[in-house]
Amino acid sequence: MTLAERDRQSIWHPYTQHKNMTPPIPIVRGEKTLLFDEYGNSYIDAISSWWVNIHGHAHPSIARKIFEQASTLEHVIFTGFTHEPAVRLAERLLKILPGDFSKIFYSDNGSTAVEVAIKMSIQYWRNTEPEKNNKPSRNKILAFRHAYHGDTFGAMSVSDRSIFTAAFDDYLFEVVFIDTPTSSNITSLKQKIGEYKNEIACFIYEPLLQAAGGMRMYEAVMLDELLAFIKSQDIICIGDEVMTGFGRTGKLFAGEYMQHKADIICLSKGLTGGSLAMGITASSQKIFDAFLSDDKSKTFFHGHSYTANPIACAAALASLDLTEGEDCKNQIQDIIHHHKNFIDQFARENKDNITFRNIRQLGTIIAFEIDKGDDSYLNNISAVITLQALRKGIYLRPLGNTVYLMPPYCINEEELEKVYVFLKSLTRIV
Ligand SMILES: *Cc1c(COP(=O)(O)O)cnc(C)c1O
Repeated sequence: MTLAERDRQSIWHPYTQHKNMTPPIPIVRGEKTLLFDEYGNSYIDAISSWWVNIHGHAHPSIARKIFEQASTLEHVIFTGFTHEPAVRLAERLLKILPGDFSKIFYSDNGSTAVEVAIKMSIQYWRNTEPEKNNKPSRNKILAFRHAYHGDTFGAMSVSDRSIFTAAFDDYLFEVVFIDTPTSSNITSLKQKIGEYKNEIACFIYEPLLQAAGGMRMYEAVMLDELLAFIKSQDIICIGDEVMTGFGRTGKLFAGEYMQHKADIICLSKGLTGGSLAMGITASSQKIFDAFLSDDKSKTFFHGHSYTANPIACAAALASLDLTEGEDCKNQIQDIIHHHKNFIDQFARENKDNITFRNIRQLGTIIAFEIDKGDDSYLNNISAVITLQALRKGIYLRPLGNTVYLMPPYCINEEELEKVYVFLKSLTRIV
């Protein structure tokens, strides 16, 4: 049996309708931007393997640090014990995170980082404010429409109700949803939030880019104004930088674009350079202090078996070394520059072509809609484009009719050009 046939017998894939599915491609090796299949074909990983890979595949320095750490201390329970990789990673992140953070809480992925942030916020109010009529004083959560924060129940609850959550909507807790801010709606957004005075525990947001919700971009100045208002209401602000962290938007963190900073920040995806699963929730001193007490019920009762896994911490440290290096900063600026030239030209060439809509860029990310069929994640154009791209040696996975490009930073000019040529050819394909 081929690997694809064995896969068919034993594997259930994520976000995959197995009925009539195209068999998955067995990948045997990765190097820089390229993935190699068992026949030796190569594919440019133009979406960084679901946005996690920032420095390229099988990066030698990350691999070496993983090996060294695995041969020294692979894991240890993180209550009552600590270790150098966890402490060093925390110290380094606290110095560079956008805002006044003083503690790092480790977990396993982006969804758990979000769960932790929500639980910290809810319990913060329980620990600090007396209950009213046996209810927490602040029991509402604020989030954006079209948000995506992960697939566990808390993370789903603060995500927009969509095809992803439909089967579970009855089981998700209630959330106040607002639109992302624009100059025309900002006043009404503030008014709506104001109506819930002293009821909202926290506000969770993906700064500048709602990625899984369709690569929706919105303006930093508007978010900054909204954050200023929300913070004036004493609402805890949770910046979900699971996707925007580590250089994606052109700055190290998207939070750097705003003057008003988050109180809690969630990280994952690029954290280990795409090598190992890890989530981080950073909190301000004020939030941490609310859990300090002689009353044991105020403890934060949350943890995962693999909390602060030393190998993942070592991978994250190695990835951070690369991210902070001059080479990487230059690579990011080069991609931004090439993307800009490309979309200027692409938009100009297609100004009378109604096939492409809303061509946009944020840092290393380009996105646009294809005007065919519904604006929906279920639009079949996605599968058509993926297949055509694979034939050209490129891996793309549009979100329905939203095509986007989010390459590892080490992508070279030639590879970028190849992807641009393919995107231009979509006029003929769709
Ligand atoms: C992907 C993503 C998550 C969930 O992360 P997982 O590691 O897939 O659980 C949360 N928030 C944002 C903004 C994301 O893009």
